[in-house]
Amino acid sequence: MTRRIFWTGLSLIVLASALYPQAKPFTIDTITAAPGETASGMIQVPAGTDAGTQIPVTVMHGGKPGPVLSLIAGNHGYEYPPVLALQRLRARIKPSELAGTVVLVHVANMPSFLARTIYYSPIDRKNLNRVYPGRKDGTVSERIAYAITTEVIEKSDYLIDLHCGDGNESLRPYVYLPETGKTAIDAAMRGLALAFGIDHIVLERGRPTDPQASIYCSTTAVTRGKPAIIIESGYLGSSDEESTDRILRGITSVMRHVKMLEGIPDIVEHPIYIDPIEVLTSPATGILYWKVERGQTVAKGTLLAVITDFFGKTLAEVRSPFDGVALYIVSTPPISQGEPVAMIGSPKRQAPGTSRP
Ligand SMILES: [Zn+2]
Repeated sequence: MTRRIFWTGLSLIVLASALYPQAKPFTIDTITAAPGETASGMIQVPAGTDAGTQIPVTVMHGGKPGPVLSLIAGNHGYEYPPVLALQRLRARIKPSELAGTVVLVHVANMPSFLARTIYYSPIDRKNLNRVYPGRKDGTVSERIAYAITTEVIEKSDYLIDLHCGDGNESLRPYVYLPETGKTAIDAAMRGLALAFGIDHIVLERGRPTDPQASIYCSTTAVTRGKPAIIIESGYLGSSDEESTDRILRGITSVMRHVKMLEGIPDIVEHPIYIDPIEVLTSPATGILYWKVERGQTVAKGTLLAVITDFFGKTLAEVRSPFDGVALYIVSTPPISQGEPVAMIGSPKRQAPGTSRP
């Protein structure tokens, strides 16, 4: 290297660091964003025992240093407000004004999204959000999970897994707040949950602790020491403005909370902690008649749903096991034995911790 090239190179680096104190690019798979830039592209999931697929990803790499926040939409392919919210976020954020890096997974489960399937992949019939951390040599859902684990989750500091009521679920908005019993990560996750701005916060205990058998997308982050929350905003496969805007506002508020954006986060003032919850499953296969609405207050014994055979004869009733709120109720007719019918939760005003009832 000649002396002149050395000094020219050095002064360019000094100039770049003055403009962008964060000097290194950020890479997800083949998608690389320089500081202050946005880059989008596809993670290629190669074919294996079944067809391959692609995962559309955007990296918004801030001009200033800060944490890496990953936002995952479309683990379930029939859940649209998260997908729409991330498109809007991409258009709204100016990476030059951002501290840290935002990774958007626009549609995690492309086979399910394009085939419009509920819960399960049309290719391997697996629920993507039950096969994390995935397998490099597994079926397509497992290979998607493996790609998201290794390329996105392991490079993140925080993760928000974005969901809504699937195509059959009438759901009121809520947040799942994982509890691990470890003080620091639990406090960080509680901070994220309160900053998102949705007042119903479901306490989620007993999730897997083995990083190699984490099952869920969010738990894959938590078992790797990265705070994560799960958002539910939207219902019945709709693409409504209110559910989409709620997600967009929540993400913006969380980004302010973790100091990636300037401004004051919109913290929930009066959270309603939901504990316990119970998912009620159908004792029979047939036609479902739902008897309550999303968000409805129910008493112990309230009739939630009736299941008939295909000719109209009642086969089973599903009733609430305790006083609570219907966080979601399946509100389309098809039902198979063992599938969820409703999730009932018991609202509490007390914060989680020692004062928990
Ligand atoms: Zn979902």
